[in-house]
Amino acid sequence: MTTLFISDLHLEEKRPDIIEAFFDFLNNKACKAESLYILGDFFEAWIGDDENTPLQISVKDALKKLTDSGTQLFLMHGNRDFLMGQLFCEETGATLLSDPSTINLYGKDVLLMHGDSLCSHDVEYIKFRKSMRNEEWQTMFLKRTLPERQLVAQQLRTISQAKNKGKTLEIMDVKPEDVVDAIKTANVTTLIHGHTHRPAIHELEIDKKSCKRIVLGDWDKNVWYIQADASSEPALLNYPLGH
Ligand code: MN
Repeated sequence: MTTLFISDLHLEEKRPDIIEAFFDFLNNKACKAESLYILGDFFEAWIGDDENTPLQISVKDALKKLTDSGTQLFLMHGNRDFLMGQLFCEETGATLLSDPSTINLYGKDVLLMHGDSLCSHDVEYIKFRKSMRNEEWQTMFLKRTLPERQLVAQQLRTISQAKNKGKTLEIMDVKPEDVVDAIKTANVTTLIHGHTHRPAIHELEIDKKSCKRIVLGDWDKNVWYIQADASSEPALLNYPLGH
């Protein structure tokens, strides 16, 4: 039996190739796994569980089929889909995980994060993240009509794109100190996260313990996933879209 991890699919109507790759992944890989973890930015945008676009409906149906067939599904918010909520979970059979979460992976504690909170170089973004994750703001936002929410989401995206243009590559990556803090606080030796779109396995030593930071990739050109089982170390794997 295996456990799979994915993140940063950024599902949206204008990328039918990624949507198809995701359905293939469900049918060929995830359905044989005991658990699938989606670690954020699953959708390019999410303005509430009540939107129900054709894409959202087809993805929810596929996930429901997956969980009905016996694969456990765990979902963590990313910076784009942090409004995915309880209704989505009820409709798909998913369990929402808070960020960060520690899980027991075949006898070993592993820390899971989306990864954006590790990028505290970007002071402005961390401030923005805090205001977006504010419960009062979210409640107010979700009370607005769908067209109003779509407009706000579009405006926020435009602002964020403009701001990211001026940011250096270093600012957009994790801050090493944040990684060390997260690993120490959780008292683990393995951290899995996404968000940065820089898939890699980083070996590091923290308090004389050898630790690993495994970074998932986004699905722009390749399907990236981590496969773990009881007998080997988690592997970071990929194959091209359309494969
Ligand atoms: Mn992200």
